[in-house]
Amino acid sequence: MRALWGKAPFQYELRELPTPKPGIGQVLVRIGACGICGTDLHMQRAMNRDWTPLGHELAGVVEQVGQGVTLVQTGDRVIVENNTGCGVCDACKNGESRYCRNISSFMNDQAGFGDYLCVAETSVQKYRDLTPRQAALAEPLTVAIDVALRADIPLNAEVAVWGAGPIGIMACKIAKLRGARRVFLVGSPRQNTRNQFRMELAHEFGADVTIGGDEDVAAALRRFTRDGIDRALVTAPPPVIPGALRACRFGGIIALIGLEEQSGQTIPLDINAFHFQKLQLRASHAIPNHFFPIALDLLARRVVDADKLITHTFSLDEYLKAFSLASNPNERVGKVTIEP
Ligand SMILES: [Zn+2]
Ligand SMILES: [Zn+2]
Repeated sequence: MRALWGKAPFQYELRELPTPKPGIGQVLVRIGACGICGTDLHMQRAMNRDWTPLGHELAGVVEQVGQGVTLVQTGDRVIVENNTGCGVCDACKNGESRYCRNISSFMNDQAGFGDYLCVAETSVQKYRDLTPRQAALAEPLTVAIDVALRADIPLNAEVAVWGAGPIGIMACKIAKLRGARRVFLVGSPRQNTRNQFRMELAHEFGADVTIGGDEDVAAALRRFTRDGIDRALVTAPPPVIPGALRACRFGGIIALIGLEEQSGQTIPLDINAFHFQKLQLRASHAIPNHFFPIALDLLARRVVDADKLITHTFSLDEYLKAFSLASNPNERVGKVTIEP
């Protein structure tokens, strides 16, 4: 079987490996589709210091089950959770499984861009009424759901979303479903075909107003709203956080899923303004991924329309084409998937 591994900067190896045999409680999943994530691009740009398996947004079919498997059977269509909580640690047992520190993940040694994955049966979930390509969008959708829920969006809230990648675009829709009055999408400061296209997509996913990141965003958002925005969902790199804080009204909440390419980086914070404005900054970091059942349902009912967001699909052998298109600023590109 094939598996795609990567190392920064932008090195790839399509490895030929033995197909794993599912052990007790495990299933072998034949991968049907896997999406290229912004994180994959970040990792290949700078973060992957060593060779690392690539691909974590996927759906496929159960090909073989190991001993003792009871939840799924051969032929079932499933998504694979890339991070699964243990269910038995103190956090899990106390009903706070999102703080589980005992997470199992295939991502350490297996690639979603490949032919097969071997995982615990507790890490797969069945789906219906979706193609593998559409179901592969469930993982980034769980991330969008998590960041929106972290922000506790109140009814009729003015919500701004930073970042017009697939997660930001889907977060617009989730904010609307949560009862947002208006959603403002703050795009990238870079004007290019890709970002223009993504702003158009954001409108289709519920954004009422799009704002270019090259403007004074906080001032623009304050002009549009009475006292500033109620909630900020930051799905862009963290340097936008000070602007998001300035755009918030008294008591506003910022939820964050953006990532820096290097660890140890800092952002300036006007701590007195933060204090006297009673602001809150909350990390989403949706690991373990929850909300797959909700995500799969939203996709199956076309509340979140996967076919609008997924613009290109390639075979596994075309991985170089797929990765270069996904980061090409001159193309009308949304989500790119690879189907082995
Ligand atoms: Zn991802
Ligand atoms: Zn746990």
